[in-house]
Amino acid sequence: MTHNFGELTELHVHVGSSVDPPIMWEIAHMQGIKLPTKNYWEFEDLIAVSGITTYQKYLDLFHWTELIQSSPEAMEKSVYSIISGAYRKCNITTVEIRFNPMLRNRGGERDLDHIILSAIHGMEKAMLAFPVKAGLILMFHRTYPQKLNEIIAKKAIKYKNHGVVGVDIGGPIDKNFKMNSIKDMVLNCKKEGLGVTIHTGEATDACEVMEVLNLLNPDRIGHGIRSIEDENVLKELASRGVVLEVCPTSNVHTSVVKNLNDFKLIFSKLKEFNVPFTINTDGPEMLKTNLVKEYELLLENNILTKEDLEKCTEVARKATFIK
Ligand SMILES: [Zn+2]
Repeated sequence: MTHNFGELTELHVHVGSSVDPPIMWEIAHMQGIKLPTKNYWEFEDLIAVSGITTYQKYLDLFHWTELIQSSPEAMEKSVYSIISGAYRKCNITTVEIRFNPMLRNRGGERDLDHIILSAIHGMEKAMLAFPVKAGLILMFHRTYPQKLNEIIAKKAIKYKNHGVVGVDIGGPIDKNFKMNSIKDMVLNCKKEGLGVTIHTGEATDACEVMEVLNLLNPDRIGHGIRSIEDENVLKELASRGVVLEVCPTSNVHTSVVKNLNDFKLIFSKLKEFNVPFTINTDGPEMLKTNLVKEYELLLENNILTKEDLEKCTEVARKATFIK
């Protein structure tokens, strides 16, 4: 069954998991990147999930996509294709796209400004071709020394009037990482008018969500579903009006949520405590989904109603960092 959900807004997609495999294949070959296979179909399997996996194995898939995207030309083409695909496949007319520029510069071999500018250029060109509003979110990394994350914060501020609309943090769980280490830079980005969304309450628990709320005062939270483990966290999210960017298929694939049915409890808790939430894909190509499919999945499995989904669309439209 195909439903019409009207114009959609997607707030949470990563460049590394949102580019169509044939385009990734083309970019890799254009740049002469040595891939571990010469077979296209094997390549598709290399950069997409198959069945249920783990959080770490999911992050490992980004090794190849990030390597292929590590040039200005690749970033321009990648960002263009994400916006084009979002509009053509799902009627997404507002989209925020996130990436860590330092995972795209071959360890410093490529210039960071060129990587970011090319992403902006790809975005601008796509906005000429399609009636879409888009914005970029630059990501810090949990395993980076503070100094490197500070450089990313500086770049976000530098390009804030040129298409960069916010900051986020990603990367694997790292027991040495202290949320406090990014506090000053996050607050500074916020002061400069950038939006703040933070990946937490996905692989990490409700305790960390509370820490993020208190230290970083984010506008939104990436995932945040584990907030339901603690009612105080739910109350705090609601009173601050922090919007959750929920990514159902992604959470099931990474085994962060056991199965789709568990989302019934997750959403009923969020609704009970009036925590605003949106639906996202995290990465439509890597996860073999798209925003319309996510909406249909939730609707057809009686997890959310059509009215709930309309509300999600409305919340997303209001919560975008794009002005
Ligand atoms: Zn994410």
